[in-house]
Amino acid sequence: RVTQRHEEARVADREPPRVPSWRRFLDQFRELVIWILVVAALISALLREPVEAIAIGAIVVLNAVLGFLQEERAARALEALRRLSSPLARVVRDGEVRTVPAAELVPGDRIELEAGDQVPADARLIAAYALRTQESALTGEATPVDKDAAVVMEPGAALADRINLVLMGTSVVAGRGSAVVTATGMATEFGAIAGMLEAEARPATPLQRRLTELGQVLVWTCLAIVAVIGALQLWRGGGLLEVFVLAVSMAVAAVPEGLPAVVTVALALGVQRMARHKALVRRLPSVETLGSVTVVCTDKTGTLTRNEMTVREVVAGNRAFHVTGAGYEPEGSFVARESGRPVDPHAESDLVQALRVGALCNNARVEHGNGGWTVSGDPTEAALRVAALKAGVEGGAAGPQVVHEIPFDPERRAMSVARQHPEGMVTLYMKGAAEVILPLCAFERLGGAVHPLTGERRRELLEESARLAGRALRVLALAYREHPGPQPAYQEEELVFAGLAGMLDPPRDEARPAIQSSRAAGIRPVMITGDHPQTALAIARDVGIAGPLDRVMTGRELDACADDALGERLESVPVFARVSAEHKLRLVHAWKRRGQVVAMTGDGVNDAPALRAADIGIAMGLSGTDVTREAADLVLLDDNIATLVGAVQEGRGIFDNIQKFVHYLLATNAGEVLLMLVAALAGWPLPLLPIQILWINLVTDGLPALALGVEPPERDVMQRPPRPPRAPIISASEGIFILARGVMVAAAGIASFWLAYHQDPARLAQARTVTFCVMAYAQLFYALAFRSRRLTLPQLGLHTNPHLLGAFVLAGLLQLGAVELGWARPFFGVGGPLGSDWLLVAMASLAPVTVVEVAKIVRGWVRRSRAGRREEAPAGV
Ligand code: ATP
Repeated sequence: RVTQRHEEARVADREPPRVPSWRRFLDQFRELVIWILVVAALISALLREPVEAIAIGAIVVLNAVLGFLQEERAARALEALRRLSSPLARVVRDGEVRTVPAAELVPGDRIELEAGDQVPADARLIAAYALRTQESALTGEATPVDKDAAVVMEPGAALADRINLVLMGTSVVAGRGSAVVTATGMATEFGAIAGMLEAEARPATPLQRRLTELGQVLVWTCLAIVAVIGALQLWRGGGLLEVFVLAVSMAVAAVPEGLPAVVTVALALGVQRMARHKALVRRLPSVETLGSVTVVCTDKTGTLTRNEMTVREVVAGNRAFHVTGAGYEPEGSFVARESGRPVDPHAESDLVQALRVGALCNNARVEHGNGGWTVSGDPTEAALRVAALKAGVEGGAAGPQVVHEIPFDPERRAMSVARQHPEGMVTLYMKGAAEVILPLCAFERLGGAVHPLTGERRRELLEESARLAGRALRVLALAYREHPGPQPAYQEEELVFAGLAGMLDPPRDEARPAIQSSRAAGIRPVMITGDHPQTALAIARDVGIAGPLDRVMTGRELDACADDALGERLESVPVFARVSAEHKLRLVHAWKRRGQVVAMTGDGVNDAPALRAADIGIAMGLSGTDVTREAADLVLLDDNIATLVGAVQEGRGIFDNIQKFVHYLLATNAGEVLLMLVAALAGWPLPLLPIQILWINLVTDGLPALALGVEPPERDVMQRPPRPPRAPIISASEGIFILARGVMVAAAGIASFWLAYHQDPARLAQARTVTFCVMAYAQLFYALAFRSRRLTLPQLGLHTNPHLLGAFVLAGLLQLGAVELGWARPFFGVGGPLGSDWLLVAMASLAPVTVVEVAKIVRGWVRRSRAGRREEAPAGV
């Protein structure tokens, strides 16, 4: 029955309807030019030129197949990405909490919710601790709603009043709760609304938009040139139909109609490659922006560090203890700092009490399984439980019954839990940042007794906590208060200070190299953390974000700093500590005002606005919340800074590739158009037949351009400064380069036609065949040269892009077949074998690529000698 309900739930989760493949294939024929070609083929057939008609027809179909394959590939890639980023839910199955795709929930499932979760279904609460949800998507109510599991509602209560329910499409902003699913997918309240809305079309990326604009300019330029050539042919007495077929073929060949599809494929494949490297791009346009990022603001915990906490120091009862042991195994001892000797924790009641507070104000689980000890939940809390277990102190679910809880909230930097002991007494346990907890303490536990806490002692304890923080430890203060029985409200005041716990979270091995590589790439790394300034600075120095002289700025200092002054300070401060989500937002705006392109990471619920405001919002896949993932452009599945830097590198590579094939297509198409234009102006016969033009277009544009789109990122992408975000796809100087390369191909074609033709009409067919081959091969060689603007082919290595090599060989063989296979010749208007003319073809088609490669070498020399001169010049010149 469960399976059946499961299936129903799936059906109810309406997926956007998929257009069947055959319809998408037929869609390829919707383009106007294609239809004009079909008409041309029909007219040719009527005029009894069946061979040309079949050839044109075949090319039309081949073009459609290629376009279809490109689009299929793009669609599949996008689909795979959509599946990767589908929402998840935490559900109790077989008595254990598991994470499953939200689509697999069925009514009756028990789900667990905490701050930052997207509610995955409609559900009835069975427990709620300070649970608040944001329901604006559903009810329009902007302020979060307090939820209560104990209330029983009147039937027919308004949606916004049903505070014992949580609703799909809303998100948890604070607290924790459990609920039983009542409806899923389209059967939910949200589904009912979603069903009414039409699916939104995907907006084009800025790059796609700029390419479309560029495409339009090209279309009109080409059409104008084609019209000139057509008019000249007519004027010289060409037949109307003949000229018509020529003009249409040229238009098809010259207009890069495949560009949008190739761009989508390059983007989507790049994004898939990034997903394999654990960086999930949620919006395609972000790929472009990634390449322009100039400031990377990163969290500390989990991103720069491993998020594997171990308690190293405990201060309790005015004594300090070092804790030994590694990992999550609760094996280790407590060594007194003053004597350097291990102590028996049971003889140290203050130490045990501090550990008890840490273990009872705690939701983490520590378990022993087949693979050794594992923990789940917040790593900070897990570390406290492991440390307590080292002294035999149990905690978590094994402790006395929880009667009240305020879960950890990064804005408040504290958490409290009240537990009722079997004899009726209730203790409030509280832990959090030392500056938050110490002001709430009025007493201190010393030698098993409670003493008043003086102002001076408080200062001493704060200094002690700063000392621990300076050793890169994350410090938590622990406190408690005893009540005779359950209270209507638990005041967090007059607490008894129990101790400090300092835990180590080592930096990731990859962090330092990743930071170095981002600096080399002209990207400034900045740490923004909720942790203590000293801890932050110590870790920042460790991973290379801060130098020995750099300072840290705290949230409080930020508050005191006006916007203008802040802009100035940003230039010199690499670490921000004890900041809240609002500070993050302010920092993003401040950098953006200074013209920087900002990438910002975040994990908490409140980080969502900062992520949205950043040019690239980055959420954490492991430790992050659904809400930040929703707001983000990029999700780091492993929370790792190195993954982020890798994504920037990929983003730059993808953008480069798009530029490469745009340049390639434009240069080669310009070559073809110029060849025909020069011939028409000179009054020569056509150097290429329409069918030959179409064929060249098919073999050189389709596969080689796609293969250029999957070029691996160049070795030096991370040694260049970021690309200015509004830089055009083709700058003026690049435009000149492209044109010059087009002129070279055209020149090769013209020269070879001229040499083979000799003004001898009997040699016309042969001369066309030579030009046909020269134009095809010169362009294919270009594809190899366009792989890099700076590196020559021997430097790149032929094998580094096997796709392009494959496309090159395949297209080369197809062209060879077109002229050398006896049965194929009539289709392409080829008279006889080329024979010794192959030598001419080889020389003419290798000439342009040789010039391009030699130019790279010469420019390399010039660059190096200039750089050398700059280094020799005395400083300041
Ligand atoms: P970031 O991830 O932004 O680099 P962080 O993870 O170190 O920083 P937060 O998780 O916001 O920062 O923690 C801020 C402070 O709150 C910590 O320095 C610590 O004192 C306190 N804190 C962290 N976790 C808990 C917890 N589970 N219970 C109580 N207090 C906590």
